[in-house]
Amino acid sequence: MEKLRLLVTTKCPNKCPMCCNNSWDFSKLPVVEHFNYKEIMITGGEPLLFPEKLANLAESIKTVQKLAYGNKGKLFLYTALADMLPNYIRYFDGVVYTPHSVNDVHSLLEANNFLLDYKDELMESKSLRLNLFPDIKKHIPDNTDLSLWKVKDMQWIKDCPVPADEEFKRVAELWEVE
Ligand code: SF4
Repeated sequence: MEKLRLLVTTKCPNKCPMCCNNSWDFSKLPVVEHFNYKEIMITGGEPLLFPEKLANLAESIKTVQKLAYGNKGKLFLYTALADMLPNYIRYFDGVVYTPHSVNDVHSLLEANNFLLDYKDELMESKSLRLNLFPDIKKHIPDNTDLSLWKVKDMQWIKDCPVPADEEFKRVAELWEVE
């Protein structure tokens, strides 16, 4: 398969009742053995709790993808920490951001303003997706410029099925808070 969903940690500052991680036995998830995938999505938990590890992993993956796929290899980050995006977006071809609280909306608005200000330097050929649950969407002011983002309305999905064209694997040692 050409797509890999890669779990790096189960740690997360949020405690969402419908979190996919509640329904998975991660000890049964296969360990990733190579990064030779055309599309890799790094997920958690919250990968940005470990920014330096994440940056190192992203650089390793991009090296492999560049050799195998040139500019067609893509690396995406799934996160709920918008505060960190301005510093770490450069490691990725795209980000899927899902705010989970009103505080997250404030962080989103600040990060969005920064990305709009520096879009020529930071955003060239980046793909940004914004997942919005209805109870979060209502807190985003109507006049917000979300032109950088592809906005997707979200609902919680029980047990979070993995799409048929993706492999779901984990790093050998899931990242833990030190
Ligand atoms: S933010 Fe995501 S990973 Fe964290 S608890 Fe909520 S659903 Fe789970």
